[in-house]
Amino acid sequence: MGSLSGKNAVVTGSTSGIGLAYARAFAAAGANVVINGFGSPEDIEKERAKIESDFGVKAVYSPADMTKPAEIAGMVALGEKSFGSVDILVNNAGIQFVSPIEEFPLEKWDQIIAINLSSAFHAIRAAVPGMKKKGWGRIINTASAHSLVASPFKSAYVSAKHGIAGLTKTVALEVATSKITCNCISPGYVWTPLVEKQIPDTMKARNLTRDQVINDVLLDAQPTKEFVTSEQVAALALFLCGDDAAQITGTNLSIDGGWTAE
Ligand code: NAD
Repeated sequence: MGSLSGKNAVVTGSTSGIGLAYARAFAAAGANVVINGFGSPEDIEKERAKIESDFGVKAVYSPADMTKPAEIAGMVALGEKSFGSVDILVNNAGIQFVSPIEEFPLEKWDQIIAINLSSAFHAIRAAVPGMKKKGWGRIINTASAHSLVASPFKSAYVSAKHGIAGLTKTVALEVATSKITCNCISPGYVWTPLVEKQIPDTMKARNLTRDQVINDVLLDAQPTKEFVTSEQVAALALFLCGDDAAQITGTNLSIDGGWTAE
């Protein structure tokens, strides 16, 4: 029996990257999980079934689009209906877009704020009543080093990530006496599709080659000169779900190879 045996988790944006690592880490620790995110139905079903067979837990898939508040509430309701409760909520879905501000497409601003910030508000709003009823809860928001420091050409992303750090602190104060904690985790660069997709626009915005972007922009931001891994981020989330972390709330935990220490 793992440390999360009997607990139920919802992880948004868990069809890929860091979210998938969270879902697998929670399942390995014994939690049932609701997975969410986009991808081919075949790949998603394969991953859902693999989580069940690898770890002997239940996994259900919610196709909720994180730009749609009613679907986000439906995702939480699916977890409650399938498992009886949602004890752990990880707001992780996110996208990135790189552009000089004067050319930044308006619809990209709205989309990034919706997926990277507002979706967490909607999911927390839907999940807190059940957590309060149960008298236990863990809310974890994937922020970013960009919740603490900026980079040029990422106006919407940096704004959304600073916003989620504020949301985290506010919610932590509101639920503090209900045995619910709310924290954010702020990774530095993790090699995922989100990072890979931003390389061409970064090359254009900064007039650099692909190798220069990887070495002089991404890796150079981190004093360790190494990427963080999704599994390292997931291990931190697992710690936040444990009893030893019951008094850690309202914080923004960096896992960024020293980036924000500079
Ligand atoms: P990823 O692209 O691998 O995963 C993003 C996930 O979000 C996918 O499952 C995708 O389907 C889902 N998603 C996107 N739009 C959605 C929508 N409208 N509705 C539902 N799901 C949606 O990226 P990742 O790097 O694993 O990013 C996960 C989180 O980590 C994001 O919040 C990102 O900002 C944050 N983060 C990433 C890095 C990094 O370097 N990769 C660093 C710091 C923070």
